[in-house]
Amino acid sequence: MSSLVFLDPAYPAGYLADISAPQLLVTAQGVTRGDGVFESMLYTNQAVRKIEAHLARLATSAEVADLVIPDARSWYAAVDTAVADFDATGGAEEAVVKLVAARGEHDEDPAICWVTVTPAPALGKEQRETGVDVLLLDRGYDSKLSERAPWLMMGAKTLSYSVNMAALRYARKHGAHDVIFTSADGIVLEAPTSTVLVAQRDGETKRLLTPMLETGILPGTTQSAIFDAAAQDGWELGYGPLRPEDLYQADGVWLVSSIRLLTPVRTIDAKPLRLDAELHEELSALSEAIR
Ligand code: PLP
Repeated sequence: MSSLVFLDPAYPAGYLADISAPQLLVTAQGVTRGDGVFESMLYTNQAVRKIEAHLARLATSAEVADLVIPDARSWYAAVDTAVADFDATGGAEEAVVKLVAARGEHDEDPAICWVTVTPAPALGKEQRETGVDVLLLDRGYDSKLSERAPWLMMGAKTLSYSVNMAALRYARKHGAHDVIFTSADGIVLEAPTSTVLVAQRDGETKRLLTPMLETGILPGTTQSAIFDAAAQDGWELGYGPLRPEDLYQADGVWLVSSIRLLTPVRTIDAKPLRLDAELHEELSALSEAIR
């Protein structure tokens, strides 16, 4: 059903392990401190989407975290082993391929690196159709903090996602599906596991906007791929600063990520948003075509 492959210099294609059995030392800092980095990619139609962009971001995150990880070739080989095993043991229409590099018990230990392949959550597909209700939640820092405080590793995809998950639980307890974080100075940031996209229609002009990376948000591989495709399609592109009123006045707001693809936002803090059906169709087609 699900597959697990560890990277190991002694096994160029990685080695398969039992995903349902214990595998990690409880003293690994990846476990005790959430000290490590990861990536999540979508596997569908026999292909892992945007694997190159994900491996590039993994390498950047690892560098920011001072973590030495195997080269891209080793990750490619381990992913091939993992998806082959996944397909051979039942497969699924959509699966999540997760790459993890966790710090070992001692700083000088090599990173513990593995790949898992698991069936994608059905909820993602459902929300793509229905859209989501979102709460605006304060992230508690200003939009310039990232520039002042590189030790916070903002913009790196680290294993320390407990705050992101707590924000999602808060939203669910309060009747919403998801969250858009804002900075203390009122700038739109990102969602706990997705990037925010905003569309504006201005006569013949179609404009696609996203928050600027200088705010310390994760550089989204889906946002980047959609922007590339939209530029080819004649859209104007822009990078924030966006404020909540820009979301309320938009002709469409979406949460995008590798796993959920393009999900429209129906309401923010219970106020309905506009969704231009034609723009939604166009962006859906662009996001479905990402390879
Ligand atoms: N922002 C955050 C905080 C994320 O965790 C993610 C994805 O997991 C994204 C944005 C979207 O990134 P991508 O499109 O590369 O999946």
